[in-house]
Amino acid sequence: SCNRNDKEKDLNVQVVLRCRPLSEEEAICRMPTVISCNELRGEVLAIQKIGNKQIDRTFVFDKVFGPTAKQMDLFSQSISPMVKEVLQGFNCTIFAYGQTGSGKTYTMEGEKKTKNGEFSSDAGVISRSVRQIFEELEAEFTEYSMKVSLLEIYNEEIIDLLAPDEWESSDDKLTKPIALMEDGKGGVFVKGMEEEIVRSADEIYKILDKTSARRQTVETLLNKRSSRSHSIFSITIHLKNFTQQGEEVIKTGKLNLVDLAGSVNVLRSGSIEGRAREAGEINRSLLTLGRVINALVEESSHIPYRDSKLTRLLRDSLGGKTKACIIANISPSIQCLEETLSTLEYAHRAR
Ligand code: ADP
Ligand code: MG
Repeated sequence: SCNRNDKEKDLNVQVVLRCRPLSEEEAICRMPTVISCNELRGEVLAIQKIGNKQIDRTFVFDKVFGPTAKQMDLFSQSISPMVKEVLQGFNCTIFAYGQTGSGKTYTMEGEKKTKNGEFSSDAGVISRSVRQIFEELEAEFTEYSMKVSLLEIYNEEIIDLLAPDEWESSDDKLTKPIALMEDGKGGVFVKGMEEEIVRSADEIYKILDKTSARRQTVETLLNKRSSRSHSIFSITIHLKNFTQQGEEVIKTGKLNLVDLAGSVNVLRSGSIEGRAREAGEINRSLLTLGRVINALVEESSHIPYRDSKLTRLLRDSLGGKTKACIIANISPSIQCLEETLSTLEYAHRAR
């Protein structure tokens, strides 16, 4: 067992595990399952058979969502409190981590289409966060301004998905990569990044629909690519508040919603790792994110932000007065066990 529940809970990184149900096809062919979730105890049991020996391993997380957990359960228990923090002026990041096919995009996007204008029960973290942000701002009559950006990191290049001209003018490449610049004060900014000002939840949903439609028109290029790219949707909110003396103060909160590239077993040893690296399988941003989170959790004096585009980009939202939630997604199927164990270990180390 790898119980680390005794650790102080005042950390800024929360690790949540989600196990998807078997797909219809997997269920029809009676795919054996090797994962069992104990939501009450926050534990996941992985059963590995080697020869006729059975190895049971238990992993503990801040929260576990089993195959029957609904989008609403995950959102209300683990994400909604972070959205509230954003509206208090904090930077928060939600990451979906896991191998391709484990449910990252389902968790973050889910079913986006609203039926007869109604919110779908399959709606994911992004639409639910957007809805909560506007509901709370309207309930509090807060004056605010808000803008969104949508970036992708592919092969350590940053691509701006809100920059339509570049998007349409290219055929072999989807967009022109844009540069990450140092601001000279220890921060970074993305040069020429598009930020759209938004005034309602519907405006954000429209932007997301438009970009996903745009992405679908180049689907053949995207199939391979989507499993190897990180998508980062950010909402920045400037809120007007007043001190007790009646002075105006502007607070800024930022919510980053990140659908990470599919994880490949980065724990594989020696020669295999060498081959994977040659094949470009090992994703620098994914690897560095793990190292940054470890360093933050262990309060190390050196945090290797500079080692990847993703961590440089999210630097102002990782560490310091910020919060992060990693949703580690796994499949229950025996076929995925090796990758599942790797995800469980990656996520467990982040605690
Ligand atoms: P990833 O983005 O990690 O590659 P997807 O989100 O595309 O994986 O999920 C793979 C498939 O499994 C999709 O068809 C998705 O709808 C389905 N799926 C994933 N998670 C769940 C879940 N919790 N409940 C129902 N279906 C799910
Ligand atoms: Mg996906």
